[in-house]
Parts: sequence; C-alpha cells; structure tokens
Amino acid sequence: MQDIKELSLRELEDKLFSWGAPKYHAGQIFSWIYQRGAFEFSTMSDLPATLRKTLADDFYILGLELVDLQRSADGTAKLLFQLKDDNLVEAVSIPMRGRASGLTGAAGARLRAVTGCISSQAGCKFACGFCASALKGFKRNLSAGEILDEVLYLKNNSQKDPLTHVVFMGTGEPLDNYENVLKAIRVINAPYAFNIGARRITISTCGIIPGIKKLQDEELQVELSISLHAASDRLRSEIMPVNRKYPLADLIRCCHEYIAKTNRQITFEYILVKGLNSDLTSAQKLVALLKDLRLAKVNLIAANPIPELKIMPPEKTEITFFKEHLFKAGINVTLRRERGQDIDAACGQLRLKHEKN
Ligand code: SF4
Repeated sequence: MQDIKELSLRELEDKLFSWGAPKYHAGQIFSWIYQRGAFEFSTMSDLPATLRKTLADDFYILGLELVDLQRSADGTAKLLFQLKDDNLVEAVSIPMRGRASGLTGAAGARLRAVTGCISSQAGCKFACGFCASALKGFKRNLSAGEILDEVLYLKNNSQKDPLTHVVFMGTGEPLDNYENVLKAIRVINAPYAFNIGARRITISTCGIIPGIKKLQDEELQVELSISLHAASDRLRSEIMPVNRKYPLADLIRCCHEYIAKTNRQITFEYILVKGLNSDLTSAQKLVALLKDLRLAKVNLIAANPIPELKIMPPEKTEITFFKEHLFKAGINVTLRRERGQDIDAACGQLRLKHEKN
C-alpha cells in the first residue's frame, strides 16, 4: 500500500491513465482529500465505484493516528500522532484573530484563523539546549506524505476556523529533511490541494547554512525564520551545538546573501531565558550582530517553563527592557505572545511525556 499523497497531480493522472481511467479524476480525488477532508476513498461519491475500489486496494490516505490531544484555555491544541512505525510526532493548532485575509481593524479582529505548527522529523539530531524534542535523539525523517498528514489533520480539526498558516516549528530541523519538506510545501501551496499562499508558510531553521543557500534559489516565497537565541558564539555553541558547525559570522554572511537574492525578510527567533540571554549585554550583542541586515526582524519569545531542563522565563520588566533596547537601536522587534502555557506546549514536551510512560 502506498501513501497517495506522495504522488503529484501529474503522477496521479498517469496512474489513472495506466488503469484506463480518465485523468480528470485525479483533480477530483485530491479535492476530496485536501479540500473536503476525505480520509476514505469509499466516501468519494462522484467517482465510479470500481475506481474507488481500485484506489483503496493500492493506496491509503492518512498514515497517522491521533494518540493524545491537549487543549489550552487560550484555544491552542497540542496533538500527538503515532506514525505507522510507532514513532511519535507532535503538531500544534494555534487559533489567531485577525490574521485571515490580512484584514485589519474591526473586520479583521472578528475573523479567526488557525496556524498549524508541524513537525518535519521524528526526534531531532541538533540537541538545542532548551528544546525537549531532541532529548530522545533522532529517529528519522518524515516523508512528504507524513508531513501532509499533519496539515490534513489540523485542517480537518479546525473546520470552524480555517487553517491559513503553516509553520515548520515542531519537532525536527526542516532544512535537514530538505527534499521532503519542499515536496510537502509545494502541495500545501498548490491550488488543487491546500492552496495556502507561500507567504503564509514558514520554515524555521536552527541555522543550517547549506539549506538556506538552497532555499534562496527556489522559486518559492516562503518565510524564513532562524532560531538565534544567543548573539555570541560562546553562548550559542553552548545552547545550540549546531553553531559549532555554522558559527554566527558565517550564518549572518549567509543571511546577507539570502536577503540580497530574495529581497525577503528573515525573522530571528530569540527565546528569552532567565539568567542566560536576557540581560543588557546580550541585547547589545544582538543589536551589533543584526544592525546591518537590510530586512530582518527579531521575534522575542519568553521561554515556556521546561522543568526537565530547568528553563524559566525572565521577569516581565527584564523582557520589556530587552525589547526596548532593540527597538531604540532601530531593530524591527516584536514580542510573541506565549500560547498554551497550561499544556505541554514547548516543542517535544508531549512526546517526551508519552515516551517516558
Ligand atoms: S529547536 Fe529545532 S533544531 Fe533545535 S533541537 Fe529542537 S527541534 Fe531540533
């Protein structure tokens, strides 16, 4: 049995042709799967019964199973999925106001939309110090079909509020699973499938330079976000071992090149951790590092408490002071609201809890 989502529209048309069925059924099949949320071929009522049977004999639609769901008071839902080989991956559904259609003002405030945060690997090999995803090591890359499974599930799970944004910020490093992630993104973006605009899809990387260089040559307007979390090599190498391979000077040089080539902004994620990277000196170093980047934004996030790793957020006054320092230095800076604090919302926490049991 094969995952039908591994096929492109063209490949499915060719398959139908080889069976002697009209090619136009391919569009109908994908519309049922990606737009109407069908998980069974038998429900595709406008297809001939014989074709539905042939499809069900050769293909499956959904390759994962929901094994846990935690819902926060703010509407954030964390989902834990089991893959066919029993590996576990997490996805998060984050409701937002006013993001749909880019509307602002009263009309925008009334609209609700959902951002889906998805995983690209089972486990992770990069062992960032504050991330629970890597505590059990790397298991394997997800296939494009498995990545699409997560999107499909989140879309169907949020029928009331449309899924309008997808961010690769769950477990795993997307640029370490480049081909499958790009293949999935093309389907997320495709009009015949999820039809989510490229600018509403974000790849979040820990700073894999060869991947960023590859991405800048793609004809895709996806958003790029880099997890920075420290502005000195000493601290960054300590909390993000990937920095030993791709140090800050090389990474920032690569960012200059990316911006020059794509004319697109890069967002730098900076998790503020109490006693680690939230003091004035850290803010000054961050300004010095980023001030010459033409299109850059810093997204500050107060750390979610992770008891296993003894990580706590700084005091509110320290967070405000850090943000103000960046703002006064001319850095485009935002402070991301913490979501789902009453559930195991930090990357990998839910999976970790299950694997411990
Ligand atoms: S932050 Fe991302 S790259 Fe780093 S360990 Fe966690 S999942 Fe891996």
